[in-house]
Amino acid sequence: MTTPLELTGWRHLYSGKVRDLYSPADPSTGPERLLVVASDRVSAFDHVLSPGIPGKGVLLTTLSLWWFDMLARGDGGRGIPNHLIASHVLTLGQDGVPNTPDDVMSLIPAEVAGRAMVVQSLSMEPIECVVRGYLTGSGWAEYTQNGTVCGIRLPSGLENGDRLPEPIFTPAFKAPMGEHDENISFERTVEIVGAPRAAELRDLSLEIYERAARTAEHRGLILADTKFEFGTDDAGVLTLADEVLTSDSSRYWDAAAWESGSTPSERMASFDKQIVRDWLAANWAPEDRAGTPPELPAEIVERTAERYRELLERLTR
Ligand code: ATP
Ligand code: MG
Repeated sequence: MTTPLELTGWRHLYSGKVRDLYSPADPSTGPERLLVVASDRVSAFDHVLSPGIPGKGVLLTTLSLWWFDMLARGDGGRGIPNHLIASHVLTLGQDGVPNTPDDVMSLIPAEVAGRAMVVQSLSMEPIECVVRGYLTGSGWAEYTQNGTVCGIRLPSGLENGDRLPEPIFTPAFKAPMGEHDENISFERTVEIVGAPRAAELRDLSLEIYERAARTAEHRGLILADTKFEFGTDDAGVLTLADEVLTSDSSRYWDAAAWESGSTPSERMASFDKQIVRDWLAANWAPEDRAGTPPELPAEIVERTAERYRELLERLTR
């Protein structure tokens, strides 16, 4: 793993596969804050690959800010509280990069401008709130085994990439660092966080998914599935955190390709890291997967970067 940057005013706390978290160097400066820096690192099969995807960190951050803003403003529903600190209101500049007010900008070191967010430090719920409107990925894998996803029984005869009769909440338990998240049933979620909180997480996740999927649809995109993370603030308010509706946390497909495609890969023409996953699946034998993954070819990196740029363009313009 690359060494995290030293950033003035911030102390490195933790690095995940994609993002680096920092806390204020001087904790007496105000409310508990975190700096979340998105890198260009790309992961697949739980490994960070090399090289990264140029511009990916900016893209993830720009998309998150765009969606947080849209959801907070309550377009198409009620305002959803998020973890961006209060003054962090977004407008998109000419170049598609978010303008951030000066008071927040001054907290974001220049080295990471455009790919960092200042957020409220929350007490995170240990559940990855996954919503699926379409069947693929680990949902498809479970369905082929026993006809269910996270314990939810689905109609028989569905194909990889099919639209589900209605969106479903398929939570995962957030594994400790380095371990794989585990798909769990709603009943198990109730055991972990209690019935009222489990219902709140499910309802809010489904509501946000449906709003975002409608927005994507107007732009010719299918939001096949996505993952949210929530935390609670000091007042106990459930707050949308982490990154939201990015191409790392979601699968976006081209709606026209999905309508006309005849094979799963044609139908699921995607704007996420599926290109990387597919290349790796074909070029890294399962028996080698305990070791170091192969280097991504320049062509795969460029095609992925291009898809990411296209997603941002289509969503935000
Ligand atoms: P990996 O993605 O490598 O499996 P990860 O999900 O822990 O691990 P990242 O996504 O790179 O790593 O790091 C983001 C971390 O920050 C997550 O653990 C997420 O739950 C946490 N987080 C996001 N928003 C907040 C917040 N407002 N307060 C506290 N923690 C947060
Ligand atoms: Mg994460």
